[in-house]
Amino acid sequence: MAVSKHVKDLMSGSSFIREMFETGARMKAEYGADNVYDFTLGNPNLSPVEDFRNIVKRIIDEDIPGKHGYMPNAGYPFVRRAVAEQVGAEQKTPLNEKNIIMTCGAGGGMNAVFKSILNPGDRVLVSAPCFMEYRFYADNHGGKLDIIQPTESLELDTDAFERAIDKDVAAVIINSPNNPSGKIYSEERLKTFCEMLERASAKTGRSIYLVCDEPYRKIVYDGNKVPAVFPLYRNSIAVTSYSKDLSLSGERIGYAAINSEADDFDNLVDAIILCNRILGFVNAPALMQRAVAELQGRSVDINEYHRKRELLSEGLAEIGYEFDKPAGTFYLFPKAPGGDDSAFVQTLLKERILVVPGSGFAMPGFFRIVFCVEDKVIKGAFEGFKRAFEQMG
Ligand code: PLP
Repeated sequence: MAVSKHVKDLMSGSSFIREMFETGARMKAEYGADNVYDFTLGNPNLSPVEDFRNIVKRIIDEDIPGKHGYMPNAGYPFVRRAVAEQVGAEQKTPLNEKNIIMTCGAGGGMNAVFKSILNPGDRVLVSAPCFMEYRFYADNHGGKLDIIQPTESLELDTDAFERAIDKDVAAVIINSPNNPSGKIYSEERLKTFCEMLERASAKTGRSIYLVCDEPYRKIVYDGNKVPAVFPLYRNSIAVTSYSKDLSLSGERIGYAAINSEADDFDNLVDAIILCNRILGFVNAPALMQRAVAELQGRSVDINEYHRKRELLSEGLAEIGYEFDKPAGTFYLFPKAPGGDDSAFVQTLLKERILVVPGSGFAMPGFFRIVFCVEDKVIKGAFEGFKRAFEQMG
């Protein structure tokens, strides 16, 4: 047997999202792409901002010594400085290049962070519903992801976290705006949550790191803002990417920002830099680092996603689907009519509509629809959504 038993196990439970995506590819080949309504993958449909193309062209043409060569494993210092200024403003905390490590997306960043802080058997906690790749990211480095049930309204349940924390907990992840619920955790709730983490760290005698996974920070609606976490909790690390807000998911560019007040700051930063290197990333892509340095604070046109949110929400609400409008992200997370998300997803499949069951986010009874798709996909699916609702609702 060539593949290890452990990886075989991982493969068998690999991902609902990928599975649905592959089902979609098969159906598109059979029925034609225009006859399949694929709402599975959070792959932004908007093109990167026009300036991105011009910046990249200019950098390619410029004569910069060592432009395509190795660099410090944390990334170019001038890029880290540019990122530090922006993240410092977002986190309401002054930061400099030392706080920033450029990474291969948020996924690469989280792997470098977990490799740095996890001892074998350590636990990482996260609230459902959640992005399930976290399970692999923790497992990659000997850790175990434990999922905490949220409140009725899918908010962080601080008491449930406090009950679950013991001396094996090395990190807690929060993802706000949340994939898949679209919720933004309020400053008040985060404050209470962070006070609980301080208490729990004192009790277990261990620094519990708060890993804030924030790739949707700029994709927010209705004037919502994502609160800064650094002033609320010293052991905080923001890990994020330009995958979603600049539509650069294939370019693998992001960063980890470490709070200067974090315990063991210098060692922690050095560890994440080393892990970025030895995980085989070596450093984040050179060209993309230079490009994003010039695009700090920018994003694709969020009004477009807002328009799509309205289009989808109005159509589904009219049919009778129950959901909270997402405050951010490009996901809608309705209740599955009839209550059984797997059965409902199968019913939608018969309508050639592909969505991901809530079970794929540790939240059965719901399903996720992405709206970073073309309008014709959204409009074309309403009839099928209606028939499925009538059948199962
Ligand atoms: N975190 C969340 C919540 C995500 O939804 C995703 C991608 O879908 C990622 C992390 C990974 O992002 P990246 O492409 O930056 O690795």
